[in-house]
Amino acid sequence: MFFSTFAKLFERVKLRQIRISERTLFKNMSDLTVTPLVDSSLNPILAPMHSLGHEHILFCNDNATGLKAIIAVHNTVLGPALGGTRMWHYQNEQEALTDVLRLSRGMTYKNAISQLNLGGGKAVIIGDSKSMKSEALFRRFGKFVDTLAGSYITAEDVGISPEDMLHVSKETKHVVGLPGKSGDPSPVTALGVYVGMKAAAKHQYGTDSLAGKKIAVQGIGHVGAYLVAHLVKEGALVTISDLNQQALSDLQAKHGVSVVAPDAIYDVDMDIYAPCALGATVNDQTLSKLNCSVIAGAANNQLQDEKKHGQILMQRGIVYAPDFAINAGGVINCFSEVEGLSLDWSKQKAEEIYHTIDRILERSKQENLPSYQIANQMAEERIQSKGSLNI
Ligand code: NAD
Repeated sequence: MFFSTFAKLFERVKLRQIRISERTLFKNMSDLTVTPLVDSSLNPILAPMHSLGHEHILFCNDNATGLKAIIAVHNTVLGPALGGTRMWHYQNEQEALTDVLRLSRGMTYKNAISQLNLGGGKAVIIGDSKSMKSEALFRRFGKFVDTLAGSYITAEDVGISPEDMLHVSKETKHVVGLPGKSGDPSPVTALGVYVGMKAAAKHQYGTDSLAGKKIAVQGIGHVGAYLVAHLVKEGALVTISDLNQQALSDLQAKHGVSVVAPDAIYDVDMDIYAPCALGATVNDQTLSKLNCSVIAGAANNQLQDEKKHGQILMQRGIVYAPDFAINAGGVINCFSEVEGLSLDWSKQKAEEIYHTIDRILERSKQENLPSYQIANQMAEERIQSKGSLNI
């Protein structure tokens, strides 16, 4: 009896120590070069969890349906970890693990900087989204999500459709982005990018008016097309590029914008570059061509090397609106579904992105630090202020 009580007490103390050490570690999260305690090639799971500050990971396998998935919960100090599920034909498990760790950490920062009471998480399903999908596979995945009892809330991401999420929802209530609920987040994302771009313009040009500004939009998919509509309405001179010729012709006919070939977008005479297609388009090659003075767009991970290219942008006087802050409209839309809030609420919240970008850029100027670094710091400060209360 005495020994079992003592053992329980010891476990609780140990758990509390682990929690405190997690929170202490979190202070170093913006520094991806933090040296792991142990060789990560020999310790491929706990070592990266340690250096990135993850709380827990669930590895999921189901022989009957062929499901192989990883759910990573990065941080739940601000609330349940929200982040989509990606289905991708990863070359190996290490690639899938690296992706889910990086993406879930990114969600912590995005949710924190957006003033949402949400933590960060993400899931990946390893497999070909064209040939491996089945209702049984998604229902089994839903059961795994349900075992986390709401500490992780899932949504759709690359390779996943709202219909797939409907199958997931048959097994768990911890899922958002279902058909007939909050719907396509792209209009809300585009609104946030538009107002964030105005805030960035204010810092560079002294006015937030985009009238007469030459803006190059790369990618006119779900978000890009809505963004172009906002820009044209305000009187900007817009140039677009995409791989989809039909979409280009349609948007040109609708708004009278200029069109260039995909590779030519970096050479366009522009004030503002709006990447709305792929990540890593701000890199050594494109920086030798881009003659913009503001970068503000929807794409995730726009800087190929955050530290190096963030520094170069600052040195060149190019105002950069950090991607995870300016494109948070999508997660705001998901949060509205979690809380049962209206589309009007989502739009209002997305308009606050103007002030978020404004605050980041103001502080970047005052502290003479790159804007991405300030955005990371602001996200961490919000988590730490809440986290310290929780300990
Ligand atoms: P999408 O797939 O609908 O559109 C992307 C467009 O980019 C497509 O039309 C595609 O043809 C085009 N494209 C691809 N490669 C290109 C290239 N080399 N040059 C020019 N165009 C190219 O995606 P989306 O939903 O509009 O999202 C755009 C970006 O914003 C993505 O990076 C996405 O991760 C990010 N994002 C989207 C949301 C959202 O709510 N949809 C939210 C946050 C971030």
